[in-house]
Amino acid sequence: MQEGVIVKALSGFYYVEDGQTIRMCRARGVFKKKGIIPLVGDKVTYTPIGTREGVIEEILARRVELVRPPIANVDQVLLVFSVKEPELNLWLLDRILVHTERARLPGVILFTKSDLLENGDECQLWVSAYEKLGYPVLMVSSRTGEGIEDVRSLVNGKISVVAGQSGVGKSSLLNQLSPELRLKSAEVSHKHGRGRHTTRHVELLRLASRTYVADSPGFSQLEFGDMEPEELAACFREIFELGQQCLYRGCLHETEEGCAVRPAAQEGRMAPWRYQNYLEFLSELKDMKERR
Ligand code: GDP
Ligand code: ZN
Repeated sequence: MQEGVIVKALSGFYYVEDGQTIRMCRARGVFKKKGIIPLVGDKVTYTPIGTREGVIEEILARRVELVRPPIANVDQVLLVFSVKEPELNLWLLDRILVHTERARLPGVILFTKSDLLENGDECQLWVSAYEKLGYPVLMVSSRTGEGIEDVRSLVNGKISVVAGQSGVGKSSLLNQLSPELRLKSAEVSHKHGRGRHTTRHVELLRLASRTYVADSPGFSQLEFGDMEPEELAACFREIFELGQQCLYRGCLHETEEGCAVRPAAQEGRMAPWRYQNYLEFLSELKDMKERR
């Protein structure tokens, strides 16, 4: 028996990669009977059939299981955001961070197209704000090669999910990391400053030995689902920490008396846009709860 990783699931077949080849595999009937569904990202053992096919015998222990996108064993989420073209979207960045925090996955922020900055100070405010929260932040450019080697060592030996709007340079970055991928780059439409919209199924792309990325459309939809308003503060690291000092337990940090978060935002002790985004997401969660 051999070991591999499921890189794609399509019409009842699982595509298992073992470092050299990708085999089209069926899963043993016993999985279905036990209600086990193999997931992209699962490490499996399989019996080869010929050179291109096989049968999955066993799913090895799953560490993490992400629901949207459905991927097992994800190590981290790469939040890819361009500093320009399209403009940095801090609303979406904070929204994706809510999801990574909720899934308890490490988030890494990659600010792309750094070559478009006339002077680096322009985004120093954002870099230091997120670094202060404990997120690794890298400035990268697929044009000049800045930061590419740092990204390479960051993803090495891991399964990473890539999140971010289209047009921010995800394909260009992945092509830099592994030219064999030859991902098509979507031209940015000048009218909207966005790339073409492409929908795809979940698939792991192999960058190097034991190194995979999923460029996932699922992570950009970002509905909050069944999340309770009370859960939101725990997904903003600084709000969670400041909130320990609020007068009331269960403070939602809006206009409550004795709230420690609101004054911190007003006095610049936390990034003001983060507090604004928190309030906006909170009101969305409250609306959703009322409609349930
Ligand atoms: P994706 O939609 O996120 O995969 O983005 P693409 O990789 O397709 O890139 C979108 C557009 O941005 C293309 O026109 C690229 O040529 C351009 N682009 C990508 N990376 C960079 C970069 O580092 N610097 C600059 N100036 N443009 C870039
Ligand atoms: Zn409060």
